[in-house]
Parts: sequence; structure tokens; C-alpha cells
Amino acid sequence: MKRLFKDSNNKVAEKIISSKEIDIVGNEEYFRIGVLVNGISIDNGFSNSINPPALIPRFELCIGESKRHTTVRLNSNSPFLFNKNTLSAKINSSVHAVHAEMFNRLVGDKDYSFSPIRANGDSLVFDWVHSFCDYFCKFCFKEYDWVIQKSLGISHSKESEIERNIEYISEYLLTGKQNDYSVIWLCTGSLSDPLMEREQHLKVLDLIRSNKYSGRVFMSSAPPKDIVFNKEKSLKVFNEFKNHGLDRLNSGMELVNTKFRKEYIKGFKGSLTCKDYCHFLENAKCVFGNNVGSCVLVGLEPHNNSLEGLLQFSKRGIQSVPTIYTSFVKSQLNNKVFGDVDEFVRTSLSYKDMIKRYNIEIFKSVFGLV
Ligand code: SF4
Repeated sequence: MKRLFKDSNNKVAEKIISSKEIDIVGNEEYFRIGVLVNGISIDNGFSNSINPPALIPRFELCIGESKRHTTVRLNSNSPFLFNKNTLSAKINSSVHAVHAEMFNRLVGDKDYSFSPIRANGDSLVFDWVHSFCDYFCKFCFKEYDWVIQKSLGISHSKESEIERNIEYISEYLLTGKQNDYSVIWLCTGSLSDPLMEREQHLKVLDLIRSNKYSGRVFMSSAPPKDIVFNKEKSLKVFNEFKNHGLDRLNSGMELVNTKFRKEYIKGFKGSLTCKDYCHFLENAKCVFGNNVGSCVLVGLEPHNNSLEGLLQFSKRGIQSVPTIYTSFVKSQLNNKVFGDVDEFVRTSLSYKDMIKRYNIEIFKSVFGLV
């Protein structure tokens, strides 16, 4: 039901959004998608009471009645204005608003602006190689911490940074807090040395299982160079992971169209095609069954490309986690974003149809398209 903004003491952003889709999805979902696409501006009267992380300025919000968290960036030009506990926007001829709660604290440590331990919906993300990756995708901000630290002359070597993060994760596991989450994602960047990367994944997997975590563990990484085109080798590696307690293998394709893949993803990962991902993930299905997935990033290429990739995965029973692209750091502001909020809403609805048709699992991430 449409909830109009009544409180005359509150301000709204000046920009007007024109929308044909808001009545189809309702205020709450429209605002969720809208703030992922545009970020939020903050009412001046409220901005002194908040303290966003300096390097990657972002917040988590719960929008409307939902307990789901959504990660948003700060954007002074956003038509979505946040004030204390309300998100509002001028949409078509009226002012709309939803209740929203802001979380100042993210799960993780304040020594990091992007912590190696983060909550993402019902799951916990361990991202110990977050501070560097050999692919350096233009849409990713994981290395930002490391790059900034390096420019300030306080960076650690790659190896000691990995050790520092793994130690941080082992200390966290001793607290038992991971048991509040039903899934742990081992969500790493990707090193060009596949053996080194596998060794680290297995080490963290063993740490999780030896600390008696009984929830599911999912892993996400780029297809390793040494096994991606070799089924026999792939199956051997997948089985090893399964024997160490891994429940799901995920490999984020992110972009579908070859031109955009090459533009945004450097090196080997950028050279892989949607077909390569399908073969690799179909091999993984021989070991993990339906517990195989991929991420598709919506917004950096025409939406029909993203939908085509999602369709290829859905048809093969590969679980996708489509996310909405957000420019979080300055260097990303020049990335061209395809589509307005209405187009993201339509893409989300098309994907919901696919979910029904192919019986795909829904994963409600903080950046989720659905
Ligand atoms: S491969 Fe993953 S971690 Fe590495 S830069 Fe790309 S998106 Fe980020």
C-alpha cells in the first residue's frame, strides 16, 4: 500500500523521480532498489549524528517492516533522503516515505574500513584476502583499504596481511559468534597462484569446522587457472574441498558481455566467457549437486546481458546471486551505470520469474537485485 509522507517538519530531497513501476512493487521494495542504485543523501539536521567509515562511506539500513539489511553509499545528489528513521523521495506527483533504521556499526573491526568479517543478511562473510586481488576489477573496492594504507606507508606485505587476517578470523571463531549465522561465506579475492589460494581456503575451512561450526559453508573465488579447463583436475579439487566440509562452490562471473568483461576485469578472469563459467560450474555440480552458484552484477552492462547470463545459469540449475552495482569509492564514479530505478525494478521482476520457473534459491544479500 502506498504510504505518503505526512510530517511537514521533515524535508525531502529536491530531485523528482518519475516512476511507472512503484505501484507494482510497492514502496518498500522500490526504496530498497532505489537506494542501492542511487545511495542516500542525509538531511543536514541529522548529518552530525552519524559517522560513516571514512574510506568507504556506507551504511546499513533496514527498510520498512523488513529485518533485511541493505548497504547504501552516501551520495549528496541522491533523490532518496534519510532523516533519523525515515527515507523519503519525491516520486511522480507525491512525496513517499518509508520507515528506515540505520546501523552505525557493521560487524567487524574498526581497524579496517572494509572488515575481513562482515554480516551479509543471514550469513557471515570471511574475506581474508580482501585487501588485494590479482584481478583488480574496476567495480570492486576490496583492495581499497590496502591501497590507501600503502599510500600512507603503513601497508604490510601480501603474506603478512594474509596471516594478519587469518589470525583475526581464528580469534573471532573462538568467540562462537559465528553460530548466530546459518551460512559462512569464504569470499576471497583471487590470487594468481592457485595453489597458494587453495592452501588458504582449506586452512580457513579447517579452522571453521574444527571450531564446531555446524552451519553451511560456501566458498566464492575466481575459477583457478590450473583447473578451469580440465574436468578431471577440477573434480579432484572440488572433492578435496567437499571432504574438508565445504557445502557450496560459487564463482562470480559478475559481467556477461565479453566487451564489458574485458573492460572491467583485468587478466585471466576477464578473458573467461559466460560459456566457460557454465562449463566450470557444471563440473562443480558433479560434486556439489545444486549447491553451485555464481554472482552477476547488474548495472555495468545493458540489463538484457545480465538477464541472459542469469538465464544460462538458471537453466543449468546454477544458483545465482544477482547484485546491484554501486560505486562506493571515488575512482568508480566514472563507471557508467545502465538503467534507472524503474529498469532495475523490471530486471528484478524478470529474475523473480526465472526463480519460479527454474526453482532457484533466493539469497537476500545486502546488495541483492531480489
Ligand atoms: S576478482 Fe573479486 S575480489 Fe578480485 S577485484 Fe574482482 S571482484 Fe574484487
